Amino acid sequence: MLDCAIIGGGPAGLTAGLYTTRGGLDNVIMYEKGLPGGQITMSSEIENYPGVTGHITGMDLMIPWPEQCQKFGLKHEMAEVSRISRREDGIFLVHKSDGTSEEAKSVIVCTGSTPKRAGFTGEDTFFGRGVSTCATCDGFFYKNKEVAVIGGGDTALEEALYLAKICTKVYLIHRRDGFRAAPNTIARVKASENIELVLNAVPEEVFGGAMGVDGIRVKLQDGSIRQIDVPGVFTFVGHNVNNQVLIQEDGSFLCEMTPWGEVKVDLNMKTSIPGLFAAGDLRESAPKQVVCAAGDGAVAALQAIAYVDGHQL
Ligand code: FAD
Ligand code: NAP
Repeated sequence: MLDCAIIGGGPAGLTAGLYTTRGGLDNVIMYEKGLPGGQITMSSEIENYPGVTGHITGMDLMIPWPEQCQKFGLKHEMAEVSRISRREDGIFLVHKSDGTSEEAKSVIVCTGSTPKRAGFTGEDTFFGRGVSTCATCDGFFYKNKEVAVIGGGDTALEEALYLAKICTKVYLIHRRDGFRAAPNTIARVKASENIELVLNAVPEEVFGGAMGVDGIRVKLQDGSIRQIDVPGVFTFVGHNVNNQVLIQEDGSFLCEMTPWGEVKVDLNMKTSIPGLFAAGDLRESAPKQVVCAAGDGAVAALQAIAYVDGHQL
């Protein structure tokens, strides 16, 4: 039986793997359906991971992480987990997509979340080269430049406010004239001097060349097309939380979730189920940053060690 099963091999899962094994758990497997590293490996540049300077890609950042964990005994299995269940005796079962399963005393779920795509022409072509889903990650690249933000929810408006502090101007493009965001956030956006609202505007196409994005074309309510020349386009049209492994056979979740499908945790990354922890982008209020996911993984691992040892921290 495993002391701990870690589901997902991004920054949260790899850090959980490092801390559980180095902290004394003997039998720990990290299940990762692809190559370890997580979604940051898609980023062409990361400049906000502390202590790492110079031009470095997300892949460069993550390459040494698995080796460091394996040195302390973390086992990596390239397998997709389909479901986590818990028996009445408190032992977890890790069900894999190949039909086999493994018993575990504790589980740390680190399966992340995936930003949704808006679906306009050029979005995929220019993703990472001018189209972004992360203002904290990429906003600085547009310091003193103009950018466009797409979306009308809390995330879009909050990120537009964040970008407005860095950029000279933010075009907030929304397909309706009513926002989903909280009223006080809407008021702050409307009061911002360098946010222009582009409403009833459906993104049609992001265009550019070898150097990246040159602008975006949106279709207005009267059918006309407006071209906005910007080097950066940020889309915030919602997230898919990768919570499928927590869905039980009867359709319920194994632990308590927020209405948006994120895992509810306390400050120790404990879920509502003893022995089950969640870390990284899939937990509630996640800042969706590598450094935070790694921190979560360390916290969850320390708690898992205490749980397996039979005492609570
Ligand atoms: P993830 O990195 O999403 O890792 C989850 C892992 O779980 C994945 O590898 C996935 O394959 C695996 N998995 C999922 N389901 C299963 C399953 N059922 N079975 C087995 N494995 C599974 N953050 C920054 O701090 N700075 C940046 O500059 C930055 N730039 C970014 C640029 C891009 C393009 C993107 C997409 C993200 C960026 N981020 C950045 C955000 C950062 O990548 C995430 O916050 C971080 O990776 C979250 O880590 P995680 O471990 O929680 O999840
Ligand atoms: P969201 O509330 O689902 O909003 C997504 C926005 O994107 C909507 O305005 C939607 O337009 C627009 N959109 C969706 N698909 C689109 C497409 N293909 N093209 C153009 N626009 C598209 O997502 P979110 O803002 O990420 O928020 C998710 C949840 O987290 C929400 O419940 C939110 O309240 C919560 N949240 C809370 C806070 C906070 O409390 N501080 C912060 C962030 C998020 P329509 O409105 O027309 O559908």
